[in-house]
Amino acid sequence: METHASTLLWRHPGCQIQQGRCNDSAWPATAPQPLAPLVPAMRPCPRTDSRHDMPAPHATQEASTDRLLLVLDLDETLVHASEVELDRAADFRALSYHVYRRPHAERFIAYALANFDVGVWTSSGRFYAEAVVAALFPPQSLRFVWSSERCSISRDWTTGEYLNRKRLKKLKRDGYRLERMLAIDDTASKHAYNYGNLVCVREYLGEDESDDELLRLMAYLDRLAHEPNVRTIEKRRWRERLSLAMP
Ligand SMILES: [Mg+2]
Repeated sequence: METHASTLLWRHPGCQIQQGRCNDSAWPATAPQPLAPLVPAMRPCPRTDSRHDMPAPHATQEASTDRLLLVLDLDETLVHASEVELDRAADFRALSYHVYRRPHAERFIAYALANFDVGVWTSSGRFYAEAVVAALFPPQSLRFVWSSERCSISRDWTTGEYLNRKRLKKLKRDGYRLERMLAIDDTASKHAYNYGNLVCVREYLGEDESDDELLRLMAYLDRLAHEPNVRTIEKRRWRERLSLAMP
């Protein structure tokens, strides 16, 4: 969604709740734990037949394996949507929005689908979410697509602001375990109830064509893929930790 760099608030498509900008240091620390050794090589897991047999992509699917579940945000994480066209043509349109893919989004999505269970949870509206998902993901490749209706609204008593929160524990009823679940999101406040599951990415505003956040994220996820409990891993400043760990 179009955002102005000088403001601290912005509005997501189809959502009336304003959200604070992501701050990589804005949430409590989890107990620091060393990263697992670097996985020697990415081992793509071919899709199973059962995945191909999945019904409509927007129906919640029961977890069938202990693969890590990625809960992906859309706006400013995988795409940037604007009511007005930027200085270049949009990659696609969703409702009335001009939508720009984040650099390397297609590669990241292919990587994610090959290695993890993947769902989308955006605090934007349902119809916008469905349009963006249809443009980004292969048909029936997602475990679920959740939008603002699934968010919980809570009030920040410091600012008086109402905020959308994504309570990941709602996914437990579908067989997913919090210990094997990661949220990829540019807005930390959305995950105030599950900071231990959050990998906060830098927001993408559609302008930086050299943005390599998703490439870095792939390298980081390789390291978390086999962690029995991702909630115990300190994930703040993950880029710096990744750089230090790389040879
Ligand atoms: Mg976002």
